[in-house]
Amino acid sequence: MTEPLLQLTGISRSFTAGDREFLALKNIDLTINAGEMVAIIGASGSGKSTLMNILGCLDYATAGSYRINGRETRDLDNQALAELRRDYFGFIFQRYHLLPHLSAMHNVEMPAIYAGTPEPQRHARARELLARLGLEGHLTHRPSQLSGGQQQRVSIARALMNGGEVILADEPTGALDTTSGKEVMRILLELHAAGHTVILVTHDPKVAANAERIIEVSDGEILSDRRNERDITALNNEDVVPKSTAARRLVASLGLFKEAFNMAWVALISHRMRTLLTMLGIVIGITSVVSISAIGEGAKRYVLKDIQAIGSNTIDIYSGTSFGDSRSAAIETLVPADAAALNQLYYVDSATPVVGRNLLLRYRNIDLDAQVNGVSDLYFQVRGIKMESGIQFSESDARRQAQVVVIDHNTRHRLFGEGVDPLGQVILIGNLPCTVIGVAAENKNIFSSSKSLNVWVPYETAAGRLLGQRYLDSISVRIKDGQPSKVVEDNVNKLMLQRHGTKDFFTNNLDSVMQTVQKTSRSLALLLSLIAVISLVVGGIGVMNIMLVSVTERTREIGIRMAVGARQSDIRQQFLVEAVMVCLLGGAIGISLSYAIGYLFSLFIKEWEMVFSLGSVLTAVFCSTLIGIVFGFVPARNASRLDPIEALARD
Ligand code: ADP
Ligand code: MG
Repeated sequence: MTEPLLQLTGISRSFTAGDREFLALKNIDLTINAGEMVAIIGASGSGKSTLMNILGCLDYATAGSYRINGRETRDLDNQALAELRRDYFGFIFQRYHLLPHLSAMHNVEMPAIYAGTPEPQRHARARELLARLGLEGHLTHRPSQLSGGQQQRVSIARALMNGGEVILADEPTGALDTTSGKEVMRILLELHAAGHTVILVTHDPKVAANAERIIEVSDGEILSDRRNERDITALNNEDVVPKSTAARRLVASLGLFKEAFNMAWVALISHRMRTLLTMLGIVIGITSVVSISAIGEGAKRYVLKDIQAIGSNTIDIYSGTSFGDSRSAAIETLVPADAAALNQLYYVDSATPVVGRNLLLRYRNIDLDAQVNGVSDLYFQVRGIKMESGIQFSESDARRQAQVVVIDHNTRHRLFGEGVDPLGQVILIGNLPCTVIGVAAENKNIFSSSKSLNVWVPYETAAGRLLGQRYLDSISVRIKDGQPSKVVEDNVNKLMLQRHGTKDFFTNNLDSVMQTVQKTSRSLALLLSLIAVISLVVGGIGVMNIMLVSVTERTREIGIRMAVGARQSDIRQQFLVEAVMVCLLGGAIGISLSYAIGYLFSLFIKEWEMVFSLGSVLTAVFCSTLIGIVFGFVPARNASRLDPIEALARD
């Protein structure tokens, strides 16, 4: 044998307690060869566990050199130390240190998960080890469902999972009754016989008597190191799981991710109430984000639909410089020829002249004051007015100044009441008798006053027979579908300027109203998003808070994981996954809640509904993940930076 397996030279370990330094190990020189069975004995507080932890790379020496197979450990980083623990050492603790939430199988498999052993192989080996230790009937039992001796056997199986070339057992029988203690010792002897190096800490001389070498420690120094005569059974070779290689890294990281996921799940459901409270902030945040954006979108669509109904795609041209211009009444330059010219424009679907006046309507003994509009046959198309009954007037009606009229729904009711068919009836408009040929359908939207009375006669009739007015009040232009209203408005302006030579008109486009609505809803959405973001941040802080508590609470678990070979990155990943999972779960609940609100909303409000978009749902999922990562980071980092020894000492 060229290199000793484990070689300590001048190892010291000091602890600082307050402002005093305490030397737990003083200048220890020790060599242990492969295949030895060593018992370390000594009084309580003599430094046995400290020595053991340094041997197992769980703790570090403050001075001296420790070589494993000739490799100096002093300069290794955390990751390399974790890999050494994982691949060479198997720890057995006095208090078993099993993870309480996991089955015996899962506890045993843990070192292999961190080593990246594929699942089938892992299962098979764990099952085989447990069977060999007489636990085949307890594979799915939790630690709390097992006796002390059984738990210790599970922890022995765990120590052997990755091969366990060096078994480090710190008072393995200390917490067991005599029978179970003997059983555990028998197993350790068998392992030694099978070629494992076994290092055993005990204060019981009877236990130590099983070893071939006994080292006595007192006050941090080696008092004696002597051979112990006893029978050594023949060695038989034991299969050792191959060490992890670079090629297995991918399998390893996938396995670890799955493990992190499983563990997160276990942690979440074993603290349901706390998980729920942790999620509450996220749930409220996500619910408000999703439902507010759905309400906003729904309201916007409702308003825009109404605007579209009156014709967002229309442009009105008036005389004067703007609404309220006192001189506009004197401007008489807007003429039917303008409307005709506009009709020729490519962008224009239709254009109609409009003149209007309040006049008296009379049918039998009923008088009504109504707005009488002279328009072209295109007007109904321009305004998108549908007919309830009858027909609109035609171009030929216009040409011969026919005395025909289309009345609106309200006028029909006021003039004729129920039971009289208005079509074909003659009414007086001013002094002009006109035949009712059509009734316009009621226009239900938020912009039209439902009480106003409107009737429409051909423009020519109005101009020639009713008003005696040759100029127009306005021209209404309907924009061809799909044309940008801004461009069309510019073109209309250009044409009108050309025809009039001077800007004695102005245009008004409902598109600007629509844009205002959109702009308003955008800034409203921004404001609401801000509130939502604030609530999400508050939720995130809640998650961070609980995660920090959880890390503190699970310090021992983290220590155990590190002892069986978890690297810092593995621990960090586990807690990050947990944080993200809490947030995603909260997000999912939030989204469902929003849909529930949407459903309730639809029960009570009929006019419009909340509109959920895939975008807002995706945003919610993205936000949840982000919050999990951002606010899970600090707790996860704290967890990964724990010192395994201190973590294990915690209860
Ligand atoms: P043993 O296992 O032999 O009972 P330990 O190795 O656990 O003894 O401890 C040896 C001495 O080192 C004890 O006096 C103990 O108080 C001290 N010690 C151990 N760990 C720490 C620590 N993390 N901080 C301070 N003192 C410690
Ligand atoms: Mg101890």
